[in-house]
Amino acid sequence: MLGRYDTGRPGPTVVCIAAIHGNEPAGLSAISRVLARLRERDVPLRGRLVGVTGNRRALALGRRYVDRDLNRRWTPENIARIAQGAVETAEDQETRELLAVFLPLLRHGPVSFIDLHSTSSLSTPFSCMADVLRNRPLALALPIPVVLGLEEVIEGSMLGYLCDLGHVGVAVEGGQHDDPRTIDFHESALLLMLVAAGSLEPRHVPDLAAHRARLAAAGDGMPAVCEIRHRHVVRAEDEPFVMAPGFVNFQIVERGQVVAEDRRGPVRAPETGIMMLPRYQGQGDDGFFIARPVTRNALRLSAALRTLRLDVLVPYLPGVSRDPERADHFIADPAIARVAVKEVFHLFGYRHVRARAERLVFSRRSPAARPVLPAELAPLLRAGEETTEG
Ligand SMILES: [Zn+2]
Repeated sequence: MLGRYDTGRPGPTVVCIAAIHGNEPAGLSAISRVLARLRERDVPLRGRLVGVTGNRRALALGRRYVDRDLNRRWTPENIARIAQGAVETAEDQETRELLAVFLPLLRHGPVSFIDLHSTSSLSTPFSCMADVLRNRPLALALPIPVVLGLEEVIEGSMLGYLCDLGHVGVAVEGGQHDDPRTIDFHESALLLMLVAAGSLEPRHVPDLAAHRARLAAAGDGMPAVCEIRHRHVVRAEDEPFVMAPGFVNFQIVERGQVVAEDRRGPVRAPETGIMMLPRYQGQGDDGFFIARPVTRNALRLSAALRTLRLDVLVPYLPGVSRDPERADHFIADPAIARVAVKEVFHLFGYRHVRARAERLVFSRRSPAARPVLPAELAPLLRAGEETTEG
């Protein structure tokens, strides 16, 4: 744990994590700044702010990860294995340590998780969230672009797991790893989100307007919200995968444009859209993502439809049926369910798409607002109680 600020006043629990990728230390400096500021001014924060270091072993080495990407391992199966004590890699150990910090907090109700990242290439700051309504107030409090759907297309992200348990999760990409402004942007984002969460009142942050202006200037001219349409996966047999030089986040690319080179030759953009997270560092299987802007109206419409619970109509869409194995998954036959079906699924937050025998399987992050402790965490819970008693 990096630090904790708790004045004993009732209120929300906000957990801010940084360096879950060990080569992204900027967020740690920002959390330390905010904690120091709260202590110095004796700010009457409601609830508690907990600052957490993500991948400590990779951080010590200045690498993204030691054995495995710590932000791709949070699947229920993997967590169950680690909770039962099967710790095989450095990142398994890191996961266990993080769970030990999170678990006492998760037991006491909803937690807002803020995960601070930085990028290898120069970038405008932006936030990412799974597309569930409870994540929107925190993410939309920041005057920087919100990217929907990254959490859903990446398997095993920490926020994805925590969000499926019913908690709030927003990730902030603050800019380039070594750019000093990245720390500033993270600091501003954290303060604005503490106000949005109800931890702080605006009067507790006298320079709030300056923090908002700093982020707004950085996000100027960018779409307010965009959604991920495509993830280019780099498989082991595709290596060496090399991005063409010069791509930055939010850069427009045309369908068919050569954006990278891999073992089989040129890699082209599959559709016209916005380039996101081009891989210029050597590690990881995310080559790049293609996004496109979402209008404010589409966002409002999706909120209204979900509040009205019109998603009960999803199984009646043409070519769509409920997955017999999992009631919260839907199967679409692409021959009947045309492009529009995908758009409708997006409105209801179904952004995780997998192909299964020429059918598309849609699923989403759990919209349930009541956090639950899943069965796979039970062994850790028991271990924690034994430690406390002993
Ligand atoms: Zn990262």
